[in-house]
Amino acid sequence: MTDPSQLVAAAKPAVFWTDRSDAPTPNKPLQGSFSTDLCIVGGGFTGLWAAFQALENNPGRSVAVLEADVCGSGASSRNGGFCDPSLTHGFLNGLLHWPNEIQTLERLGRENLHDMLESIERCAIQADAQRVSEVSFATNEIQLQWQQEQADTLSAHGIEHKLLDQSAAHNIAHSPTYLGGLLSPGIALVDPARLAWGLRRAVHRLGGVIYDHTRVSQIDADEHRVRVGTEHGAIHAQRVIVATNAWAEPLRQMRRFIVPVYDHVLMTEPLSTEQMTDIGWSGREGLADAGNQFHYYRLTADDRILWGGYDANYHWNNGMGSEFEWGTGSHELLARHFFETFPQLEGLGFSHRWAGPIGTTSKFAATFGTMHGDRLAWVGGYTGLGVAASRFGAGVALDLVDGLATERSMLEMVRRRPMPFPPEPLRSLAIHTTRNALAKQDETGETGLWLKLLDRLGVGFDS
Ligand SMILES: Cc1cc2nc3c(=O)[nH]c(=O)nc-3n(C[C@H](O)[C@H](O)[C@H](O)COP(=O)(O)OP(=O)(O)OC[C@H]3O[C@@H](n4cnc5c(N)ncnc54)[C@H](O)[C@@H]3O)c2cc1C
Repeated sequence: MTDPSQLVAAAKPAVFWTDRSDAPTPNKPLQGSFSTDLCIVGGGFTGLWAAFQALENNPGRSVAVLEADVCGSGASSRNGGFCDPSLTHGFLNGLLHWPNEIQTLERLGRENLHDMLESIERCAIQADAQRVSEVSFATNEIQLQWQQEQADTLSAHGIEHKLLDQSAAHNIAHSPTYLGGLLSPGIALVDPARLAWGLRRAVHRLGGVIYDHTRVSQIDADEHRVRVGTEHGAIHAQRVIVATNAWAEPLRQMRRFIVPVYDHVLMTEPLSTEQMTDIGWSGREGLADAGNQFHYYRLTADDRILWGGYDANYHWNNGMGSEFEWGTGSHELLARHFFETFPQLEGLGFSHRWAGPIGTTSKFAATFGTMHGDRLAWVGGYTGLGVAASRFGAGVALDLVDGLATERSMLEMVRRRPMPFPPEPLRSLAIHTTRNALAKQDETGETGLWLKLLDRLGVGFDS
């Protein structure tokens, strides 16, 4: 096998999705003081969907988006583009944490994905959106057993799925590692950067104002307005939504509940017709494997394979920055796993490698908060499933600042926050211990003492 370190060294350290000539020109930063009805902090999917929905639902409203970098440049343009209807990081995780409202959450998730795809089509956003199935493959006996148990639970709750034996798994794609699989219909795949760029254009068209390169450093309020402060200006707003997800800025309250972990991705060169034939995969499904530490992979419009996941790294004190993105260790591990899965692609190179911050909570799903007499709402922490759920999170945040008691804003998932993370050094200790315990569970199939304790505290994980 070609040395993975050579393959990774040859890949461009850049995000494939944004390394294209149709990237929009950034807008000018905020200079001076302005008033607006709604100010949104953070221009990823959550912030852009919040602006889009606010303007579509109420065209007279003035909306400003303040983005520290360029809209979409955070997790929203670095992801795999899997749009799962689940709002709870999978049905099983939702069942674990919100058993009383899981059926409602599932229905709202399906409606959200439907409405999201409808908006993409209506606004002619060229995001290569397509409905596909998702298949998670068992690659060892432990995962086979887990998938059987998961299928039983899904059947008991009437959730559509199909358990695949080895030969059916091989019919989806050809890998010597597949022993079986679990197919879930009804996800979609998108080109995430083009979705962010299209949403940005739609917000402009609807009259929203976007300031790029505008980091919000402070938010305070008097009885009339909420003041959103930046280096060179301020916005005085009636309502504010903070959508900074993994950054959890500038509110200290968010940092108690949301931590950033870095997830890594490789993109291959385009496959030849012969290579496409060698791997099968004619249904172009979204694929993954079934461990706690799992890979996700998909094809692009030009027949590359995006291969990501497995390693998720937390850095001391919610550490974030480019120094955590470009190290090669996690990418080399991913490259090795790639060729174990598809040995027939030996000789294929990687064109791009990158990493991005996933905002996660102790329940592995989004959480919400309000401040300043409910004139400010924040949302974040979708973990690895935020491409579709961020649109729902944005809608809930709008309901919260508008004081609307809707079905979604009254959910227990919205009203009750998960257990906060402890301060450092316990934060690092707890996260690293959990990660090691999940890796051990992958190896042995046993749920160790630490994971049992977390389950009892309501911090369990089941994706
Ligand atoms: C590598 C990777 C793969 C993933 N794969 C998938 C997938 O396939 N499917 C899926 O559903 N989910 C996936 N996710 C998760 C998904 O991308 C996120 O949940 C989603 O994009 C969150 O959107 P967001 O707008 O909340 O956050 P972000 O896109 O991160 O946006 C937050 C924005 O806030 C800005 N910001 C931060 N601080 C400030 C400040 N002080 N002032 C102003 N702006 C600020 C940031 O610059 C950023 O643009 C993945 C994530 C990563 C990193």
